[in-house]
Amino acid sequence: MLRDAIRSLAEAKIAPYAAAVDEDARFPQEALEALVANDLHAVHVPEEYGGAGADALATVIVIEEVARVCASSSLIPAVNKLGSLPVILSGSEELKKKYMTPLAKGDGMFSYCLSEPDAGSDAAGMKTKAVRDGDHYVLNGVKRWITNAGVSDYYTVMAVTDPTKRSKGISAFVVERSDEGVSFGAPEKKLGIKGSPTREVYLDNVRIPADRMIGEEGTGFATAMQTLDHTRITIAAQALGIAQGALDYAKGYVQERKQFGKPIADFQGIQFMLADMAMKISAARALTYQAAAASERGDADLTYQGAAAKCFASDVAMEVTTDAVQLLGGYGYTRDYPVERMMRDAKITQIYEGTNQVQRIVMARNLP
Ligand SMILES: Cc1cc2nc3c(=O)[nH]c(=O)nc-3n(C[C@H](O)[C@H](O)[C@H](O)COP(=O)(O)OP(=O)(O)OC[C@H]3O[C@@H](n4cnc5c(N)ncnc54)[C@H](O)[C@@H]3O)c2cc1C
Repeated sequence: MLRDAIRSLAEAKIAPYAAAVDEDARFPQEALEALVANDLHAVHVPEEYGGAGADALATVIVIEEVARVCASSSLIPAVNKLGSLPVILSGSEELKKKYMTPLAKGDGMFSYCLSEPDAGSDAAGMKTKAVRDGDHYVLNGVKRWITNAGVSDYYTVMAVTDPTKRSKGISAFVVERSDEGVSFGAPEKKLGIKGSPTREVYLDNVRIPADRMIGEEGTGFATAMQTLDHTRITIAAQALGIAQGALDYAKGYVQERKQFGKPIADFQGIQFMLADMAMKISAARALTYQAAAASERGDADLTYQGAAAKCFASDVAMEVTTDAVQLLGGYGYTRDYPVERMMRDAKITQIYEGTNQVQRIVMARNLP
């Protein structure tokens, strides 16, 4: 029922704008409005803060169905979870009430600020600093590649509070867009997910109350990594949705397109490609849903499962979307058909929330 409801909404209110959002590299405002109107913009927020209280699998299905028609739009529910999960996992009750309530209402989105210009895969090498000053912390530094930066009202920022302790000297904070000293770079000019703004976030002597720290001092990096264990599954969901969208489009196209006097779907070479695409998507879906269940239960092997689902589903998305372009021939290579956009959008799922090389490092360290 959930899938049917989201699919109808996505096809009616999000899909019609997907090509324009990509072409003009503009924020998918129509999608945000449709998602907020239907309480689907941040479904993971618990009911006690006014949220829909969706479990990890339901959240995955929402993201998957939105990504099936528009990957950029699927970053609204996905990054709202990524940005706010540190507060849900480790924040004080006051912080949860203060920030989860407006998020649930659709009054403000959340972004997640871990990466920096010189700290990507090695995120613990970050340089952004937070220095205690009485009842406040003062933050200085540059966060890079921040999804929905400038649009979001709230930012979870990881910063060094004790430079002698590397990852154990990192703390997490909630920073607000309206805090003095917060500003943003120009949107990055990207290959795909062009509707999702990615900007640098500049923190210039940003003075925030000490109670905006998420959890204890020195626990920020652990919270950030624990968050990714859960949210890599949402990237797997995004990848899965993109792949399914490409397969669905290609499946229809090959029945219409005629060469050598018959639909190209009649050629076994085409049928085998479609069979392989469907098979890979089924395997990615099984792994992703299994990981979502592990996330909901808090299974001991969640770190492995989240990395495996993200890595596998994103590799599948890249293969399937590339094959979808192939199935449309020359037409697939143009922006007149959606599979070209889907192929460009798929690529990012192999890179963010840890590249697939990093996922393999994570899996190798946590073999089941
Ligand atoms: C569109 C977009 C949106 C993003 N959104 C966010 C966001 O909202 N918040 C946020 O904090 N970050 C975000 N990121 C950052 C993203 O998570 C990083 O780009 C990613 O983790 C890789 O870091 P890097 O770009 O510095 O690459 P690097 O770490 O420089 O890696 C370069 C290459 O080296 C490989 N490599 C690095 N170390 C190893 C190793 N030990 N073994 C094998 N290979 C290795 C990598 O896999 C990669 O292929 C986003 C990035 C993009 C492009």
